[in-house]
Amino acid sequence: MELRIGVIGTGAIGEDHIRRLTDTITGARVVALSDINKENALRVSKKYNVTFYETGYEVIWSPDVDAVVIASWDPTHAEFVLECIKAKKYVLCEKPLGISAEECMTIVKAEAAGGKKLVQVGFMRRYDKGYRKLKEIIESGEIGEPLMVHCCHRNRIPGPQHTTDMTIKNSGIHEIDILRWLLGEDYESGQVLMAKQNQNALDGLKDPQIMLLKTKSGVRIDVEVNMNSHYGYDIQCEIVGEKGVIRLPDPTSILKKKSGMGSHEILSDWSQRFVEAYDVEFQQWINSIKESGPVGPNSWDGYVAAVTADTLIKARKLETIEPIILEPQPAFYC
Ligand code: NAP
Repeated sequence: MELRIGVIGTGAIGEDHIRRLTDTITGARVVALSDINKENALRVSKKYNVTFYETGYEVIWSPDVDAVVIASWDPTHAEFVLECIKAKKYVLCEKPLGISAEECMTIVKAEAAGGKKLVQVGFMRRYDKGYRKLKEIIESGEIGEPLMVHCCHRNRIPGPQHTTDMTIKNSGIHEIDILRWLLGEDYESGQVLMAKQNQNALDGLKDPQIMLLKTKSGVRIDVEVNMNSHYGYDIQCEIVGEKGVIRLPDPTSILKKKSGMGSHEILSDWSQRFVEAYDVEFQQWINSIKESGPVGPNSWDGYVAAVTADTLIKARKLETIEPIILEPQPAFYC
């Protein structure tokens, strides 16, 4: 049986997911789409021969749609996810799940009340080969207990709507989720330090920032989140254990030697860097829906990431170290 997918949001990643679902993923096809930018949505609808709907709500409630992908801008995520829960439809929502911990908790409660796991959050790094290998090594005990983690999240340049808070709640949220998943534990506290201001940053954007996290067991984490590297999209992660160090590999690239110089390409954005991770994420999501339901990052993971992001933003504004406090985890998610 082919799953019929509706996509809300046909911007950069929405169109890329439609391409992925059409050309790469098996067992599903995109049958409906919608976006506030009607002109672009109609272009995508024509390109992929998908029916255009005026609103995301019409996509969700269409009897022709079995499951929904949300790739619209961040502030619309929670309302569309809640509507999917109401319509009892599976939904893969791009990160972040909501723009605040409160929004995410509303989703957690609504999903748990419905009694069926319907929501998966687009934390696709959990499907990246490199991160999966890191997790395997950590769990094998080969490097002993992790003690420290050093990360960089460097974007080439941010979009025009990017804000200082989004550096944490839209970009750094990837590290917040993946490190919790890699280490298998929650955070205890967080702090944000500002580096020397990059004068090339957009007017008013404070950049770069350094997120500092401490886990419950005492692992210390530092993450440079730098929106204006100018040279490319560069994701680094090094885990220092008791008996060894492991590091996320860079994507494979050709070493070019020419005119007395050696060089290799550095990718410019997330769509290239994590293309395989998105493919695996979507194929597994489709397969899981056909079996017993989604098994990837869930609403609770989205909530924990949002609490952590909100706390870090508070810590940055107050220039303090803040405790990261979660509501009790509903048994539904244990
Ligand atoms: P995008 O290209 O800007 O597309 C977002 C869509 O939302 C566009 O159609 C845009 O319309 C629309 N939009 C913008 N401002 C709006 C507003 N004020 N009201 C209503 N709609 C508005 O962004 P994107 O890069 O595709 O990102 C979409 C979502 O995916 C975001 O939530 C982002 O966090 C997530 N994402 C996840 C990853 C990942 O690695 N998992 C990577 C990229 C993005 P206009 O064309 O008119 O601006």
